[in-house]
Amino acid sequence: MKPKAFVQTYGCQMNEHDSARMIDILTSMDYEMTSEVSQADLVLVNTCSVRHNPENKVYSFLGTLPPVKRQRANFIVGVAGCVAQQEGRQILRRSKVVDMVFGPDNYFRLPEMIEAVQGGERIVMTEFLDGRENVRNFIPDKWLEQGHIDGCRSYIAISKGCNNFCSFCIVPRVRGREVHREPENVIQEAQALIDRGAKEIWLLGQNVNSYRAGDVGFLELLDRVSQLPVPRIRFTSPHPKDWDNALSDLMAARPSICNQLHLPLQAGSDRILKHMNRRHTLTDYLDKVAYLKSVVPGVEISTDFIVGYPTETHAEYEETLRAMEEVEFSQIFSFKYSPRPGTKAAKLDDDVPREEKEARLARLIALQESINLKKMNAYVGQEVEVLIDGRHRKNPGVWSGRTGGFRPVSITSPGLAIGGFVHARITGAHGHWLEGELLS
Ligand code: SF4
Repeated sequence: MKPKAFVQTYGCQMNEHDSARMIDILTSMDYEMTSEVSQADLVLVNTCSVRHNPENKVYSFLGTLPPVKRQRANFIVGVAGCVAQQEGRQILRRSKVVDMVFGPDNYFRLPEMIEAVQGGERIVMTEFLDGRENVRNFIPDKWLEQGHIDGCRSYIAISKGCNNFCSFCIVPRVRGREVHREPENVIQEAQALIDRGAKEIWLLGQNVNSYRAGDVGFLELLDRVSQLPVPRIRFTSPHPKDWDNALSDLMAARPSICNQLHLPLQAGSDRILKHMNRRHTLTDYLDKVAYLKSVVPGVEISTDFIVGYPTETHAEYEETLRAMEEVEFSQIFSFKYSPRPGTKAAKLDDDVPREEKEARLARLIALQESINLKKMNAYVGQEVEVLIDGRHRKNPGVWSGRTGGFRPVSITSPGLAIGGFVHARITGAHGHWLEGELLS
């Protein structure tokens, strides 16, 4: 019987990508994946340290494992990702159930780590790739043809790390400085995924549009990928300071580049943006977004916000609300500020009281709900193209998919295919998803 592996992922799409790669490696080692921890011989937890909550979740998850370990001989537990990179050996001290701890640059060494653990060792691997041979192509050649397709969707990491050092963010510490893959290496992986049936490709980078390999910047790379025979391309996350109107023009010119953009704003006040070391103003942001909207009508724009950053006044917070009203975001990911150890902002006095942060966040979310409701209702009666990406677990006659703008749509039909495109008329808007009837 094959050994079974369970992978738990927290955090961003980059972590989703890394987990998918780890699953590929485990599968090649003859592991079978399971969705039940109790059935697993190997458990990997891919962690996120961008905010406090996901970090807490990791330790509560690890706290559930000792009874499983007692019941299963040779049970292995690994902690991967950003918390692993940041805390390293500390995790082994804090959680006796853990056998191996490894950072985001080390997951390709899973086979040797598992072998060492089977030989009785407890392992920590947290070196960064920088400086090693073949560093620019950090997906080893032997894995290029084996990228992971999740239903019909695939993620390609075009760069790793970040050079920006936003004051609140731990990413440059836990993911290292930027390393960019050769464009040929990216194209080869994309083509292999397309040949194996991928219908939607996401280009990923912590700061995706700072990509540069020789003469090729992000604009040229996106241009090249958008000429491949794949119906949908998305990318995330771009930084507003590196956003260029030429990228908006390319989005307008290439039907395969989806009319959706996640462009993190974080705050509406120029003083707070400067404090955060974001290196752009609100006006810069609004101008770029206005241009994008003018050349890509109906583009869906999402963003991130932090409320209650140290020294944020009520008036500055109100500027965030005004920016929201002006842009009319499709979706926001909003958080109360919490200091992350090791960041510049963590040295500041966290002076906005918790109740005030909560009140600011609640008002922000309520405003977004009203903006979103208006945008969702505007879809009713419209015809949209939907890429089917799944079906309802309990009701197999209900299918789910996404519009080009990444709006979730639910369609009832006796038989659709995951990875297929359909046309649907939107008949209802329910919170954050749309209901559609099949047209073709
Ligand atoms: S751009 Fe800023 S927020 Fe984004 S990963 Fe880099 S440091 Fe963090």
